[in-house]
Order: sequence, then structure tokens, then C-alpha cells
Amino acid sequence: RAKEEHGNAFQFYSREMSEHALERAELESALRRALERKEFELFYQPKVDTRSGRIIGAEALIRWHHPERGMVSPTRFIPMAEEIGLIVPIGEWVINTACAQNKAWQDAGLPPISVSVNLSARQFNQDDLVDSIASALESWGLDAKHLQLKLTESMVMNSAELFITKLQELEDLGVQLSLDDFGTGYSSLSYLKRFPLHQLKIDQSFVRDIVTDADDAAITSTVTSLGHSLNLKVIAEGVETEEQVAFLREHQCDEMQGYFFSKPLPARDFASLLRKH
Ligand code: C2E
Ligand code: MG
Ligand code: MG
Repeated sequence: RAKEEHGNAFQFYSREMSEHALERAELESALRRALERKEFELFYQPKVDTRSGRIIGAEALIRWHHPERGMVSPTRFIPMAEEIGLIVPIGEWVINTACAQNKAWQDAGLPPISVSVNLSARQFNQDDLVDSIASALESWGLDAKHLQLKLTESMVMNSAELFITKLQELEDLGVQLSLDDFGTGYSSLSYLKRFPLHQLKIDQSFVRDIVTDADDAAITSTVTSLGHSLNLKVIAEGVETEEQVAFLREHQCDEMQGYFFSKPLPARDFASLLRKH
């Protein structure tokens, strides 16, 4: 009897496993066709200048409209795309779409802003990354200063020297470089000093409780002063409340981004927000 139960449990377990594997395989093969089927879209979340309250930029965030499942979160499919190498063509699509969109807004007479895009580690490590960014800027006629690249500490892991060389090349191109999710990885302060960066982004996990948690408050204000002493602009993400805004203003954080101002929006909605502004 016990053995039987055990057997059933095992069967059940392995059926669950294979359903999971099947689901994953299906998602993977749908992902492989998503680019040509034009199922991706970029949403744009405003970035606000703390002092003036003006929208000075937007972060482009990818969305996947799966034909049957509806919207699939990037936290689900980006790691998958990274694993199977698809992140490279998807990442190129993101850069091209963001550059084309930003240029189209400028041509439509909207105030010029910078659009930032997230790079993945695998994409960053491609030999032709710098060329492909240069050619996207050139083919859309976008001034490099209006493109910001979001880098993460995970890109430094292999070799700091290679990382710095590449950052230098990107800086020579004139694009803005922002270190994303700051504080969640392994960045060493001695590296930070040597990176040709323009901006540090304080991760939303620190911002979330700045009003109630003394440690998070201390981290946020310390990272802000650290950034400023290294001549970097500092941006906080995940800003949701008036109290967080007040804290960040008081501690002279330069830029803010989060649901308090706006969720990520489809391009058209972002443009009307920018126009009204
Ligand atoms: P991330 O770069 O840290 O982006 C911020 C995430 O926080 C976004 O989630 C955004 O919608 C969300 N967010 C913004 N404001 C708030 C807020 O006030 N509160 C809270 N709780 N969340 C907020 P999303 O769009 O689901 O993206 C998740 C992650 O997927 C991103 O995290 C980024 O790592 C990755 N990702 C998104 N688009 C791309 C892309 O085009 N390329 C690459 N490589 N990764 C991307
Ligand atoms: Mg990011
Ligand atoms: Mg983040």
C-alpha cells in the first residue's frame, strides 16, 4: 500500500515535471518566432528631474504579446532569451526601436529627452556591440547623447579591464552610461572609480522602504553622496509615494522613476504625457 502511494506520488511528480518542461519548450519555441511575428513592443516609463519636476527621459522596457498567453513578463522571458542566445537579436531590436522612436518624437517637435535601454550581459559581451550601437544611432540620425545604456554589475564579473575598455569605446561614441541595480551585485568601489560612467541607479529594493527602514534610508543617502563625489548623477527607481519623493528630494537624488509618476506606457501614451507636460 505504502509502495503504491509512493509510486503514485512519483508518477504525479514526474508528470508535473514534464508538464513544466513542455511548457518551457513551448514558450521557448514561441520566443524564437516572436521577433519575426512582431510580437514585441517597447513601453516607456518617464524619468523625472527631482529639482524641476520635468520629464527628462524615459526607460524603454520590453513587452511580449504572446498570441495565446497574452502579456509575458520580461522577468520570465529575458533570462530565457539570454540562455538560448536570442537576447542578441532581441537586444538589437530594442536598441533600434528605442532610437527610431526617440528620433520620431524629436521630429514631431516634442522636447528632446534621453531614452535608456537595458543591456544584458551576453549582449554586452558581443564583439560587435559598439558597432551595432553606432550603426543604430547613425541609421536613425539620433544624437548619441540621447541614448542611455543601462549596464549591470554582472557584466564586470569576467574581466574589469575588458569592461572598462568597452565602456571607454561607448563613451567615445557619446552615449550615456548608467550603472543599473546598484548595490545588489558585487561592484567594488575601486572599480567604480575607474568606470567611465555618468549615472548610478539605486535599486528599487533599497528605495522601497526608505521611509520606514533606517538601513535602507542610510544606504540610499550614502549611495547618493558617493555618486556625487564620483561626479555621477544618481537616479532612484521604484518611487511610489509622496514620502519617498520628499526623502529623495531632501537627499538631493538627481532623478526619480516609479509608479508615483507613471507606470511604463505604450509609446503613444508616453508621447501624450510628454506633450502635456
Ligand atoms: P529593471 O531594469 O530593474 O526595470 C525596472 C522594473 O521595475 C520594470 O519592470 C518596471 O516596470 C518596474 N517598475 C517601475 N516602477 C516601479 C515602481 O514604482 N514599483 C515597482 N514595484 N516596480 C516598478 P519590468 O518592465 O517588468 O521589467 C523587469 C526587468 O526585465 C527589468 O528590470 C530588466 O531587468 C528586464 N528588462 C526589461 N526590458 C528589457 C530589455 O529591453 N532588455 C533587457 N536586457 N532586459 C529588460
Ligand atoms: Mg534595468
Ligand atoms: Mg532594477
